Amino acid sequence: MELAKNKKLCCGCGACAEICPMQAITMKPDEEGFLYPVIDEDICIECGLCESRCHELMPAGSDFVRGEPVFYIAHNNDEEVIMKSASGGAFSALSDVILAEGGVVYGAVFDKDFNIVHGRAETTEERNRMRSSKYVQSVVSSEIYAQLKEDLEAGRKVLFTGTPCQIAGVQTFLDRDYDNLILCDVICHSVPSPLMWREYLKMLEDENGGKITYVNFRDKTEGWQRASTFKGFRYKIDDGELKKDDRFYRLFFGWKTIARPSCSACKYAQVNRPSDITIADYWGVERFAPDWKDFYGVSFILTTSQKGVDLLNACKDTMRFEQRDPSEQISENHRLRGPMGILEEEREAFWKDYQEKGFVYALGTMPL
Ligand SMILES: Cc1cc2nc3c(=O)[nH]c(=O)nc-3n(C[C@H](O)[C@H](O)[C@H](O)COP(=O)(O)OP(=O)(O)OC[C@H]3O[C@@H](n4cnc5c(N)ncnc54)[C@H](O)[C@@H]3O)c2cc1C
Ligand code: SF4
Ligand code: SF4
Ligand code: SF4
Repeated sequence: MELAKNKKLCCGCGACAEICPMQAITMKPDEEGFLYPVIDEDICIECGLCESRCHELMPAGSDFVRGEPVFYIAHNNDEEVIMKSASGGAFSALSDVILAEGGVVYGAVFDKDFNIVHGRAETTEERNRMRSSKYVQSVVSSEIYAQLKEDLEAGRKVLFTGTPCQIAGVQTFLDRDYDNLILCDVICHSVPSPLMWREYLKMLEDENGGKITYVNFRDKTEGWQRASTFKGFRYKIDDGELKKDDRFYRLFFGWKTIARPSCSACKYAQVNRPSDITIADYWGVERFAPDWKDFYGVSFILTTSQKGVDLLNACKDTMRFEQRDPSEQISENHRLRGPMGILEEEREAFWKDYQEKGFVYALGTMPL
C-alpha cells in the first residue's frame, strides 16, 4: 500500500493518518519540508480506507462541495481590527459571534518559534493569534483533530478555519455533518514550505546577529496591497526596530519555487467551495465598488450554505456587507478560476541548488 505516489495529489492534510484503523500512517516531512503520509507496511492490513476516503483522490464532483455560492463585499466596522487583519477583518467578525455563544474557533497561529500550526481558541485573546495571513503551510496535528472531535461531540459550536484542502481534510476525518460545525476557508493562492520558512528566518537572524522576536506577513503601514506586491512582510530582531524584507515573498509569489506541489494542481481553486463560508480580499474594489474602498482593506465573502448565511447575518452589528455580482471577483481573484501556474524547470533547479549548496546560495540564483 502506498499513498501520495503522485505528490500533486496530496495536500498533506493528515486525515488519512487519523482514520487508519491500525494507526499505520505517520505524517513525515519530505526533502522539501512538506508533510506526506508514510505507511508502516508491517502494521497495515490493506483495508484501503485511507485511499478510498482521501478527498484528493476522489473523482471530481464527489469532493465535499457545498451549495450555490453567493458573493459579498464586506468591511469590519472597527478600523483597528482591519489593521490587524489581512483583508477587511471578516474573520474577526465571524469568530466573535462563535465566541460570544460560548463556542470554539480553530485557525492558524505562530507557535513560540514562529512555526505555523493550527490552534484552538475559546477566548478573544487566543483568537487574536489567528488573525492575519501566514504564508506557510500550517500543521493540523493529531491533537487538533482529536480536540475538534471532542468539541463537536460535546455539543460546542465550532468554527474551523483554514485552507480549502484543510477543510476537505476535516470533512474526510469527520465523515459526517455536525449541526454545530461551521467550516470557513480562505481563497488560497498556495502554501510555501515550512522548511524554507525556517531557512529564511535563520538567514535573517544570521544577517542581523540576533533572534527573530516578531513577524508579520501583511503589515498595513503602507496600506492594503496584494501580497504579491512584496510590500507587506515585516520582522523584528531582539525586539528592535521594525524591518522589511521581500525575499521570502519573491520566492513564493514571484518565482513560485517554494509552494507545495499539490497547489499547482489544486482542485479547490474554483467558485465551488468545501466550506459554508469563504473569506478573501475584495480585489478591484476601487473599480467595482469605490464607495467601499478602504486604505487598510476590504473583504470578499462567499456563502455556500444556510449555516454560512446565518453566521454572516449574525455579524450585522460589527460588519457592513452587501451582495455583489459574482463576475467582479471571478474576473479579479485568480484562484477562483484555477490553480497558480508554475515553472517546473526553475522550481527543480532551485531545489537542486538548495540540496547541494544551501538556502542562501539557492536564493542568490533567483533574479531580483
Ligand atoms: C496561504 C494563504 C493564501 C491566500 N491566498 C489568497 C488569494 O489568492 N486571494 C485572496 O483573495 N485571498 C487569499 N488569502 C486570504 C486572505 O489573505 C485573508 O486570509 C482572508 O481574506 C481573511 O482575512 P480577514 O481580514 O477576514 O481576517 P484575518 O484575521 O486576516 O484572517 C485570518 C484567517 O486566516 C487563516 N489563516 C492564516 N494563515 C493561515 C495558514 N497558513 N493556513 C490556513 N489558514 C490560515 C486563519 O486561520 C484565520 O481564519 C490567502 C490566505 C492564506 C493564509
Ligand atoms: S488524506 Fe490528506 S494527507 Fe492523506 S493522502 Fe489524502 S491528501 Fe494526502
Ligand atoms: S490500507 Fe488501511 S490499514 Fe493500511 S494504511 Fe490504509 S487505512 Fe491503514
Ligand atoms: S492551493 Fe489548494 S492545495 Fe495548495 S494549500 Fe491552497 S487549497 Fe491546499
